[in-house]
Amino acid sequence: MKMHYTLKPAFMLMLLMLAISPVMIAQRVEHSGKFTHADTVRGSLTPERAWWDVLRYDLEVRPDFLTKSIQGSNTIEFKIVNAAAAGRMQIDMRQPLTIDSISYMNTSLTYKREGNAYYVNFPKEIRTKHSARIKIYYSGKPLESLNPPWTGGWIFTRDKLGRPWMTVACEGLGASAWYPCKDWLGDEPDSGATLTITAPDTLVAVGNGRLIDKKMNSDHSATFKWAVINPINNYNIVPYIGKYLSWEKKYPGEKGELDCSYWVIDYNLDIAKRTFLVADSMLKCFEFWFGPYPFYEDGYKLVEAPYYGMEHQSAIAYGNGFRGGYDGRDVSGTGLGMAWDFIIVHESGHEWFGNNITAKDIGDQWIHETFTSYSETLFVEYYYGKQAANQYNMGIRKNILNKIPIIHPYGVNNEPSDNDEYYKGSNMLHTIRQVIANDTLFRQILRGLNKTFYHQTVTANQIENYISSQAKINFSKVFDQYLRSVLVPMFEYKLDGYSLSYRWSNCVPGFNMPLDIVFKGKRRIYPTTAWQNLNLYPEGNSDFHVDPTYYILSRQVNK
Ligand SMILES: [Zn+2]
Repeated sequence: MKMHYTLKPAFMLMLLMLAISPVMIAQRVEHSGKFTHADTVRGSLTPERAWWDVLRYDLEVRPDFLTKSIQGSNTIEFKIVNAAAAGRMQIDMRQPLTIDSISYMNTSLTYKREGNAYYVNFPKEIRTKHSARIKIYYSGKPLESLNPPWTGGWIFTRDKLGRPWMTVACEGLGASAWYPCKDWLGDEPDSGATLTITAPDTLVAVGNGRLIDKKMNSDHSATFKWAVINPINNYNIVPYIGKYLSWEKKYPGEKGELDCSYWVIDYNLDIAKRTFLVADSMLKCFEFWFGPYPFYEDGYKLVEAPYYGMEHQSAIAYGNGFRGGYDGRDVSGTGLGMAWDFIIVHESGHEWFGNNITAKDIGDQWIHETFTSYSETLFVEYYYGKQAANQYNMGIRKNILNKIPIIHPYGVNNEPSDNDEYYKGSNMLHTIRQVIANDTLFRQILRGLNKTFYHQTVTANQIENYISSQAKINFSKVFDQYLRSVLVPMFEYKLDGYSLSYRWSNCVPGFNMPLDIVFKGKRRIYPTTAWQNLNLYPEGNSDFHVDPTYYILSRQVNK
C-alpha cells in the first residue's frame, strides 16, 4: 500500500474541491520542491539519530475508546555506534501526543521538544557504553486517521454490531504518530519488538508476530503481549483491538512448517475461512518466485481491519470484503484481477519487498511498491499462464501518469502523490525481464535479492547494481529512464523495402536498452540514440512491430 487512485468517488470530489482552494495550492507548491527544516528532521539521518542504532522496542499501550486517547511507554534498547558523538538523542513523537517522562538507569533524563521531535540529554558516561536502554512514557489523544490507510493515525471505530474496533495505519505519516521512536526507515530494531496491549476484557488484542502472554486484570481489562524476533519497520508495528475470532493452520513451505493464523471479527468467521484459502496459493507462488517467506520465526497472519489493507509485517491488515479484485474491481481492466483477492496478494507480497527488503529512505519507496505490484503479475502468471500475465501487466499501464519521477526527493520523508511506483514500476520490471530473456535467471535474481538483502535496509543503487550484475547486462540507463525521468522511451523507425532504420528518442542521454522486434519471428536489436540499419532480407517487413510486452512507445517516422 498505498495507492491513491482507489479513493472513493465522493472523496475524490472532496479532494477536487479542496484542490482549488488557495491553502491546498500553497501546500502543493511547498511539497513540489521546497522542503522545510521539519521535513529534514523527520526524514534524514540527523546527527542526533546517527550515533545510535535501535536494537529493540518494547512497547506498551492502553487505548481508551471513549476519550479516544492512549497512554503507553516504549523501552528502547540501542547500540552506541559513534561514542564520540553520543549525548543528544532525537526521539520522534508527533503532536498532539506528548512525552511525559524518560527514564534511564533509574534517573530521569531532561529533554526539549521542537515540533514533533524531542531532544533528550544523556549524561556524559553514555560515551563509555556499548548499549543502553531508556523507557519513554507518553500519553494523549493521538492523531486520528480520517481516511485510512491513505491518511495515517489511530482509528477508533465500531464493527457492524456496534462494538469498539481500534487499530492504527501510519505508513508514510510514520509510527511516531502513535509511539515515540526513531522514525526513520533506515533503522529497524535489529532484534525485534514486543507490543503489549491492554484492552477491555470483552475484546481481543492482536499484534505482530506471536502471542507470548495473556493475562486478565482486576479492572475488567486484559493484557496481550505479542512479539516479533526479526527486524521490523516502525510503521508495521500495529495493534488491532476488536471482537476477533481466529483459526490456525500450518503451511508446508520451503523452510518447513509455517505457522499461519487468521483473525477476523466474529461474524465474518465463515466467509473468511472460505475466502482466505487464497493465502495458501499466494505463499506457494511467492515462495517459488521470491524464495522462502522471510519471517518463519514470527509466523504469517492476516488480521481483519476497518480499511482495505496494509503490509504490517506478520500481521497483515485485511479489509477487502472477502471477495476477488480490489474493492470489487480489477486494477488492470482485463478481468484477470477479479479471480483473486488483491489485498491478500499485494499486501503479502510486501513481506518480501518492503518488509524483508526495506528502503533506507522513503524516496525509494518504489523498492517496496514496484516489486510488490509486479508480484500481482507473477501471481497471474503462476495460476493463469504467461499470456494472461502479459495482458495483466499491459492492462495496468492505463494507470500510469508520468508526471513525476518514481524516485522522490531523499532525506525529507516526502510521499509520492501518484501511483507510478506501482504500475510504471511493474512495467519497468516486466520490460527488464524481456531484455534478460531468461526466466530462470530472472527468478534467480528475484530470489537472490531476497537472500542477499535479507532483513536489510537498502538504497536504490544496491538494488539496481545487483540486477545488472546478476543479469550481466548494464541496466543503469534503463533505471535512470524509468525511475528518474518521466520520459517513455520512443522507438523511432523507418521502413523502406528490406531496410529498417531505428533509434531511441525521448530518452535519457546514452539510453541503450535492447529490444525485441517482430516480423515473421522475433529478433533482438540494440538501438541507441543514433540511427542504425538492419537488412530484413529475405523475410521482408510484413507485420513489423515491436514486442508489446516492453513498456515503450514506437513510431514509424517515414510513413
Ligand atoms: Zn503496497
